[in-house]
Amino acid sequence: MLFLKYKKSSLTKTNIFVLILLLFICSKTIGQSITYSTLTLTSDELKTAFIEDSNYFSGGNNDLPYFQSKNGNLSMRYYKSTGVIVIFDFKSKSDYISLIREIQKNAYFRFKYCTDYDEPITYNYETYNDNKIRFDFSEMRISVEYPSKVNSFLDSNSDFTTVFVCMSKGAYAFHTNLKCEGLANCDAEIAKSNIREAKKYDYRFCEICTDDE
Ligand SMILES: [Zn+2]
Repeated sequence: MLFLKYKKSSLTKTNIFVLILLLFICSKTIGQSITYSTLTLTSDELKTAFIEDSNYFSGGNNDLPYFQSKNGNLSMRYYKSTGVIVIFDFKSKSDYISLIREIQKNAYFRFKYCTDYDEPITYNYETYNDNKIRFDFSEMRISVEYPSKVNSFLDSNSDFTTVFVCMSKGAYAFHTNLKCEGLANCDAEIAKSNIREAKKYDYRFCEICTDDE
């Protein structure tokens, strides 16, 4: 009897400990600043986490809400394109840069993209669960595009992504970044094409465009 009683009370203690731990983990799910793991949630998980987080104000409708951290350092907004896109806007440079470093460390780098000399270069990354992360350094903004049926259809047709080819005889690569160093020394015309077409003529994906160094 005494043993049972002891066991019961120790269980309760464990329960309280687990509860506190859970509360601690939950309150850490998003917090005032977000981490890389936040970017690997699904768009619905992200929405729920923000709604339940007392550090954030929310508005808009349930389908396309927006959120703002109470310290004003972070705001994000849901958009609908072919799939769901969430744009994260940062006020704090250190928050922004530390998240960029985490992305560079943990996500799979796809390619740099730029189709106009006046445009900033967009860095394209992908999480293990196919969330597509994009950012450029012209503003403190990170966008995440979530997988959808339409998007996976478009991905299978990513052959039509714009690329550039130097028309000189020795050139062997195609570039997604018009400002790529590999194109800088091109003394012939630079032709605009797409991945499918470029591959057809035996051009290979440029190593500089697919390297985030
Ligand atoms: Zn290149």
